[in-house]
Amino acid sequence: MNKHQRAEIKKILLAQIDSSGDDLRLSRLNTTLKRIDADNLGECFKCDLEIQFAILKTYPEQILCDNCLDVAKD
Ligand SMILES: [Zn+2]
Repeated sequence: MNKHQRAEIKKILLAQIDSSGDDLRLSRLNTTLKRIDADNLGECFKCDLEIQFAILKTYPEQILCDNCLDVAKD
């Protein structure tokens, strides 16, 4: 993820923090904000693969890649 993409995700994230009334999601979003600032957003928590930018734009708090999500669903 380049710095422009990171800035875009951060903007989306801040807007979602502003509009979220869900405490659990809010705490996840705030954790994600810390990950952006620490520059490790977008890597799968389990396998270190890059998470698709399109997914992060919708769900910035996503911490697993598609493959690991599929495994988690089973
Ligand atoms: Zn993964």
